[in-house]
Amino acid sequence: MSSIFSKIVVGEIPCYKIAEDDNYLAFLDINPLAKGHTLVIPKKEVDYIFDVDDQLLGGMMIFSKRVALAIEKAVPCKRIGIAVLGLEVPHAHIHLIPLNNLGDINFSNPKLKFSSQEFIEIARLINSKL
Ligand code: 5GP
Repeated sequence: MSSIFSKIVVGEIPCYKIAEDDNYLAFLDINPLAKGHTLVIPKKEVDYIFDVDDQLLGGMMIFSKRVALAIEKAVPCKRIGIAVLGLEVPHAHIHLIPLNNLGDINFSNPKLKFSSQEFIEIARLINSKL
């Protein structure tokens, strides 16, 4: 069975897209810890990030860097934090999270709520900085 992120890749499930190329997709996390919280995935479905082959994994980091620098320009923050958990969705992904304090990357924090219009606006803003 396809992961929920594979369904996003093929457009079966919508997302607020940030960036895409042949191998990777970046989109806003639907339950964000911070405004601009973004997920980067390889389009190829692999559960565990350390099972992703070297070339694809290296490219994923370079793709994430480009996205992170755009988030940093779009959302006021000290820097972009990076985290890998994979406890919920079995499709490798990197979390990119705008940080001002250590607590901003605490996954036990309550998640933020944005309207669809707000998500669209955040995605548009980040997109404009790519
Ligand atoms: P993890 O697997 O890294 O523990 O958590 C998965 C992350 O994916 C969570 O932060 C969750 O909010 C996000 N997520 C789960 N399902 C969806 C979805 O359908 N769309 C989007 N955009 N994010 C999702």
